[in-house]
This record gives sequence, C-alpha cells and structure tokens, in this order.
Amino acid sequence: MAVTEPAPAAISAAHSAAHEGILRRQSARESAARTYARALPIVPVRARGLTIEGADGQRYLDCLSGAGTLALGHNHPVVLEAIRKVLESGAPLHVLDLATPVKDAFTTELFRTLPRALADRARIQFCGPAGTDAVEAALKLVRTATGRDGMLAFTGAYHGMTAGALDVSGGAQDVRVARLPYPQDYRCPFGIGGADGAELAARWTESLLDDPKSGVPLPAGMILEPVQGEGGVIPAPDGWLRRMREITAARTIPLIADEVQTGVGRTGTFWAVEHSGVVPDVMVLSKAIGGSLPLAVVVYRDDLDVWPPGAHAGTFRGNQLAMAAGAATLEYVRENGLAERAGVLGTRMLTQLRSLAAEHPCIGDVRGRGLMLGVELVDPAAAAPVPGPRSVNHGPVPPAGSAGSSGSAGVSGGTSGGTSAGHPLPAGAAGAAGAARPLALDRFPRPLPPAPELAAAVQRECLHRGLIVELGGRHSSVVRLLPPLTITDEQAAAILDRLADAISAAARPHHG
Ligand code: PLP
Repeated sequence: MAVTEPAPAAISAAHSAAHEGILRRQSARESAARTYARALPIVPVRARGLTIEGADGQRYLDCLSGAGTLALGHNHPVVLEAIRKVLESGAPLHVLDLATPVKDAFTTELFRTLPRALADRARIQFCGPAGTDAVEAALKLVRTATGRDGMLAFTGAYHGMTAGALDVSGGAQDVRVARLPYPQDYRCPFGIGGADGAELAARWTESLLDDPKSGVPLPAGMILEPVQGEGGVIPAPDGWLRRMREITAARTIPLIADEVQTGVGRTGTFWAVEHSGVVPDVMVLSKAIGGSLPLAVVVYRDDLDVWPPGAHAGTFRGNQLAMAAGAATLEYVRENGLAERAGVLGTRMLTQLRSLAAEHPCIGDVRGRGLMLGVELVDPAAAAPVPGPRSVNHGPVPPAGSAGSSGSAGVSGGTSGGTSAGHPLPAGAAGAAGAARPLALDRFPRPLPPAPELAAAVQRECLHRGLIVELGGRHSSVVRLLPPLTITDEQAAAILDRLADAISAAARPHHG
C-alpha cells in the first residue's frame, strides 16, 4: 500500500499544535521566575549559526545568542566535531577536577589567548559551570589573599545570581560592598559624560579610598565589567579603566575583570581589557569559553594563590564536552581573526544604528563595542525636568560644541572606549531664562526618560519579523544585539533592516 504524505497544511497545523502545547505546558509547570521564555514564546527545535527554527516552522535570526554565549553561533561544525571526538574516544565525561588530556588542551589554548603579563604567571580555578560561581570564587580568592573583606563594585553592574555575585551587582545592598559610579555618557551620574565624566568617577573612587572617614575601609578587591552588558551595553572608557588599574595597583587592591560576557572576541579584541592595555589581577570567564556548553573559570596571578585546598569546590567542575567545545571555539576565534571582524562589523553596525537614531526621536542613545550593541529607547514626548528653581522653558539649544548640541543623534560624550551617540535634550531643557543662577552644568543636556514599554514593544515587533533580541539596561529599555561573531555582512544587514522596521512599527502608536 502506498504511503500518502500528509499535505503541507496538515504538517504546519500539527507543528503549530505541538508548539502551542509545549508553550502551554511550560507556563503551567515552570517557575514564575522564568525569564527569557516570557518575552520569547518560541520553541527552538533546530539551529545553525545565526538561525533558529521553531517547532511551528518559523525561522528567527538569533541576536540573543544564549545571552552572549554563542561566539560561533549555534552548532558550529568545529564545535560539533570537538564534542563528537570526545564522545567517540571513550573518555570519561565526569571527572570532578582531575587532570585529563581534554582539560590540559583547553587550559593551554585559554592561556594562549590571555594578556601576556597575566598568562606568564596565571593560575586557573575550574568552577561550578555558571559564571556566577566563578564570580563567587574570585571574591573568595581576593578576600583570602588580602585578608580584607570589603569589595568595590559599580552602579549598574551585573555579576550573577548567587549571593556574593548579587552583592556586587547593581541592585544589591550589602554593607561590605562600596558602590562606585560607572562612567557613562548618556546617563552620566555627573551630567557631563565624556572624558570629564569618567575622570570625575575616578576621582570619586580615589577620594573614597583615601579619605579615612569615607566609611570605606581598604577593600579586598574591585570588580568591574569592561563593558556593562546587562546594565545596558555601556563600554568603559579606556582611560577610565587605566585609572582604575592605577588606583587599585597603588593601593594593593586586586582588580577583578568580569569578562563573562565581553570575552572571546565579542568586543573587538579577544578580551575586552586589551582595548585599554590593562592587565587585571583576576579574570572571571564563562559563557563563550565553553563553546555553548556550561563552563566557568577564574584565572589569576600566582601570588594570589594562597587559598587552601577545597576553598572553592563543586561536583561539576570537569565538564569534558564543554572543555573540548570551548577549546575548539577559542582556537577558531583566534585563528580566524573573529575578534577583529567583530570590531569592524560592530563599528559599521553602530554607524547604521546612529542613522536610525537620527530618524527616530524615541532612540535616545546608541552605543556598544564590537558585536555588543545597544539601542536605548526613550520617551521623546517627556520634557526632561530641570533641577532647582529653574523651570522648563523653550530657550536656546545648548551652545555649539557642548555634548548633544548637534541636530540629531548628537554625540553624547564621545571619548569613551566604546562609542555612543545620543539625541540632544529637547531645546530648552538646558536653558535658564528666569533661573536664579545658571549652573555651568546647564550646558549639558539631560537624557530623556527611559521607555521600557516601548522597548518591550520593539522586542515583540522584532520577534514578529523573525528577529530575537534581548532587553537590558537599568530600566529594561535598551534593545541589545549580541549576534555570533561569524555573521556575514548580509546577515548583519538583515538584522538591522528587521530592527528598523520593528522600531518604526512600535514607535507609531507613541507618536500619534
Ligand atoms: N558576569 C557577567 C558580566 C554576566 O553578564 C553574567 C551573566 O549574564 C554573569 C556574570 C553570570 O553568569 P551566569 O548567568 O552564567 O551565572
């Protein structure tokens, strides 16, 4: 008897029913704390490179990349081959922290990529498989090595979800953690952005450390992200990073660079600290180093290696498949110059995003480094408040040369290591007619209020157009792009086309 093929319509109806059923069961059974699954109701069943295919047959360009994990995209052939090789070799898959040839090869490849001055004296601690566990290990390491307790951390930071990592993240309230301003142009805590804003942030740090009555005793370490990812794609200026290095070195404070998200070529250099030439004492690495499988390590200078055996343990520290996939990924990125490619393509995409910003008043700022890009959505209808006795008026635009004085998508700051372009304040917000006394800072525009609902609408419109993007930033108002480093020029153009369409569609109701 001949087998009759089901009609395509029947196939797609069956797929669609399976897809709906899985999503329904997920929302009935999984935790209220689930995250990405809420904004992205898709059921991935196949993936390759930039593309994910859902159970409903829909295809998506994936610019979330496992929250920045997939340097080579989904299922890259070199990664699959490395995994297959281990599986077929008969090697044990679970080995605690014992030595294996796979681990040895991973460590050799990783050390090869590290800043030379660190690699020459590096030790590595394999941690539990999440980035947050490596952050915990780093905190423990420097506390043990210095015999001190406090930590310096930054506004807007994100280091993970375990207790110690949360303490050093932006939303925390641990009294042992002193919170320092992270420099940024668009929402500069000092209102001026640029090199001056970053220098003020550095001086605040110095004054806290040197003032015996600041309430901040000499800390065990400083932890920072070279580009804040979850905090809203904020690249630290290179000069500021060097200042942090000088300030910490002069006071024997170990500097911990959290490169969980910025590592493995993402920002245009293999490690983001290389842009500034800073050599940290400790680096926390995860995400892309496992080649899409879970792996997290701390690497640090050997003189810090004074913690006792078992100081940081964990059953799953020997993931052989992740080490093999990770070594293959590190080698592929290194040999194929993917960091440089990310730098060049990222700069081009940033320029295109700036043009988009010039067309859309709801884009407050565009920024990023390499293929870590962010578009901050704001409410252009809301006049920014003016402090003190001054009232909002419609006076002159800020003087030429001041930040944000250009017609649209003006440069806000502009001296950061990464790049940032923001809209000027609506004319008048910086003016001071009738003011008691103009402040020097009045010439610097205030940013417009964030627009988280609009950002969520953009994310939904992107998904309708087959584009997966993440939201981040303090107010979840930053659309984040973290595409694989392997994307082609054509794919980059497709991403930006879909994003532009999505922003137009989402912004329409807001403008009338
Ligand atoms: N550090 C940074 C900079 C991160 O971006 C993240 C996660 O996004 C973490 C640490 C925590 O990593 P994980 O989610 O694997 O625990």
